Amino acid sequence: MSQPFTDQQLIAAATEFGSPLYVYHAEQIAARYNKLVDAFKAHPTKFFYACKALSNINILRYIKGLGASLDCVSINEVKLGIMAGFQKDQILFTPNGVDFAEIAEAVSLGVRVNIDSISMLEQFGNTYGGSYPVCIRINPHIVAGGNYKISTGHIDSKFGISIHQLRHIERIVKTTCLHVQGLHMHTGSEIKDIDVFLQGLDVMFGIAAHFKDLDLIDLGSGFKVPYKEDDQETDVYTLGARVAEAAMEFEKEYNRKLEIWFEPGKYLVSECGYFIVKANVVKQTTATVFVGVNSGFNHLIRPMFYDSYHRISNISNPDGPRRIYTVVGNICETDTFAWDRVLPEVRENDLLVFHNAGAYGFEMSSNFNSRLKPAEVLIENGIARLIRRADVFEDLLHNQVV
Ligand SMILES: *Cc1c(COP(=O)(O)O)cnc(C)c1O
Repeated sequence: MSQPFTDQQLIAAATEFGSPLYVYHAEQIAARYNKLVDAFKAHPTKFFYACKALSNINILRYIKGLGASLDCVSINEVKLGIMAGFQKDQILFTPNGVDFAEIAEAVSLGVRVNIDSISMLEQFGNTYGGSYPVCIRINPHIVAGGNYKISTGHIDSKFGISIHQLRHIERIVKTTCLHVQGLHMHTGSEIKDIDVFLQGLDVMFGIAAHFKDLDLIDLGSGFKVPYKEDDQETDVYTLGARVAEAAMEFEKEYNRKLEIWFEPGKYLVSECGYFIVKANVVKQTTATVFVGVNSGFNHLIRPMFYDSYHRISNISNPDGPRRIYTVVGNICETDTFAWDRVLPEVRENDLLVFHNAGAYGFEMSSNFNSRLKPAEVLIENGIARLIRRADVFEDLLHNQVV
């Protein structure tokens, strides 16, 4: 059921819906979610899907159906979550750098709120006192993550309230009678090393005794997923066992029980996404053979933005002789998806697939170069359904005042 799509299935989708096209595999999302649940079954654990990875409402509904909760970084994601049917206490709002009005709106919507600066914590306390429970995002200063741009726990990071400001947090909590329900951290993305989570948990348990109303510790996410053929993913089973051990020790020492939360984004939806493009032109230059496809970094920005690697297959000619290509998009500046990639011979009009394109793929797309955003299709139980139509020309003018 959760086997990857075959070339034939992907060709059928491109034939029906055209290309470029994002195709998502529902059962692969379910398999990832169920794996997490299984890995952490030794201790009460909840998973809040970080929907900034892929926020199509049909995906949100599907993930809700699996039993997950939702992590949101903007008030609009909160509203999408409510529309998708998540209960209010299943939605966690974890913004950074927003004004107090946005936090107040989240309170008026009744969702859980995570505060990420001393200034907002103070305003929150002064406004709501102990009448509305709150979580606090702590920066534990653990350096982690695959790339500086996606690493959020380091000393220069804008995220969270520094662990060194604990005394100031306590001062605000005491003065305003804040009900601190949870402590949160999120140290980055693509973290393979489970010690990062365990160290974070240690830091959190270390300060938990300062908060008498605490129910939970949220370890954020950043679970690594394999992009390259020989990549390893975060070992969630070992992590689950170690978290349960640490939690048991904490319970014994303090006679308190705390739920553990995670906020997986990429872990749930990276693998499920297949981005299908067409080779428009094969161009031999003096040094390189370029494949120019009918897409660009306006549709999949990760290679240009994060130097990320996406496996590519040529589904139109899988058995062709291997050749070396640089795969580029059509945006009018450097727009390279892959350098020196060995692929089965690419002919013009062949369909290529970028794998692991579900997370931060469509979600980060734009209309740069006045190009149209692609359609999205969800395949569930073998049935393909359009969940977002491709842009049409009029969409480019939609908000322009002519
Ligand atoms: C982005 C983000 C996540 C998800 O990170 P992934 O690497 O996609 O798992 C979780 N929590 C917060 C607060 C985030 O900003």
